[in-house]
Amino acid sequence: MGLSSGKFGRFGGRYVPETLMGPLLELEREFYAARQDPVFKKEFEFYLKNYCGRPTPLFFAENLSRVYGVKIYLKREDLNHTGAHKITNCLGQALLAKRLGKKRLIAETGAGQHGIAVATVAALFGLECTIYMGEIDMKRQALNLSKMRLLGAEIIKVTSGSRTLKDATNEAMRDWVTNVRTSHYLLGSAVGPHPYPLMVREFQSVIGREVKKQIRKIEGRLPDYLVACIGGGSNSIGLFHPFLKEKGVKKIGVEAAGRGQETSFHALSLLKGKLGIFHGAYTYVLQDEDGQILNSYSISAGLDYPGVGPELAFLVETGKILVDSVDDELALEAFNEVARLEGIIPAMESSHAVAWVKKFKKFKKGEIVIVNLSGRGDKDISIKEVKNAKTRNNN
Ligand SMILES: *Cc1c(COP(=O)(O)O)cnc(C)c1O
Repeated sequence: MGLSSGKFGRFGGRYVPETLMGPLLELEREFYAARQDPVFKKEFEFYLKNYCGRPTPLFFAENLSRVYGVKIYLKREDLNHTGAHKITNCLGQALLAKRLGKKRLIAETGAGQHGIAVATVAALFGLECTIYMGEIDMKRQALNLSKMRLLGAEIIKVTSGSRTLKDATNEAMRDWVTNVRTSHYLLGSAVGPHPYPLMVREFQSVIGREVKKQIRKIEGRLPDYLVACIGGGSNSIGLFHPFLKEKGVKKIGVEAAGRGQETSFHALSLLKGKLGIFHGAYTYVLQDEDGQILNSYSISAGLDYPGVGPELAFLVETGKILVDSVDDELALEAFNEVARLEGIIPAMESSHAVAWVKKFKKFKKGEIVIVNLSGRGDKDISIKEVKNAKTRNNN
């Protein structure tokens, strides 16, 4: 093994074909060197500030607070360049890829948000870019597809399996095995084999560090609740991690219950998954009795993933992070309410986190909740169900 086994308790690790061990060890070494290197740190911070637009604001959502009955702040990750938190991780990994002398980025994408962020940093740093995308997601996210092509990326349609994110991930890994010398695999969430979960968490922890400073300045104290949606787990671990030692701050991860907990149409990896190895890590994953990976489902493509990052799995098992769920319908309600009340169109993913605040009825007077608004919702406006919900509201 390399410098560490990359375990979070019993979770995580590096369960990959032999051909991937070399590249992963190389990446791990470079990451450990880069995180100690003030030049790398400075470069990363330079792009976060001048290219992404960090720090993103922490906004007191006064109208939403009135309606939901608790003081709500929104961490505006939607205001990042390309409209979500994902660009932060992409910049970090692209800078690492450059250090490693790689000329090409490979990635998978579900909602298209990660694909756009990868295509963006590839354009910025003059790297070639190949994006794998499931056929179904390509239909769901046509505009994002055009954007990626405009940015110069080659898109490869994945028609195997469920034709969504998990199959796109498999194909991207296959490409990496074949082209490891020239290519860096830019994984979009805190999932996969070591060192990805650790690396993505470190890059995204800037979210939590900013929030800590911002809320202290505005309120003179830390919040009572931090809330974030969970797809693979990068925006949530990025928000939560800098607060892990703060026992008074409750951390709530929100999974997508899709059409309901009791149906087979959900993405509840932590709440309903079983232990297994998925995309190179030991973690919770949706699977049947025989260990076959089940298809997940959510109205939001970014949460439609049957696995979850190993560090979150560990933190949930040890009680440091609490998990709950929100279904499609409630997320849609929150989507509409944030738009109408705050003039902010949130990503359908982020709407799950907002909706949890509405669902949870046990806040005490004077408590402060910070919701990670992981992205903007332009990409979700065409979702058929949104239109239906709107029609219902108008009737
Ligand atoms: C991708 C995405 C997510 C889910 O991914 P995590 O790794 O769990 O953060 C959430 N929100 C938005 C806006 C996304 O684009």
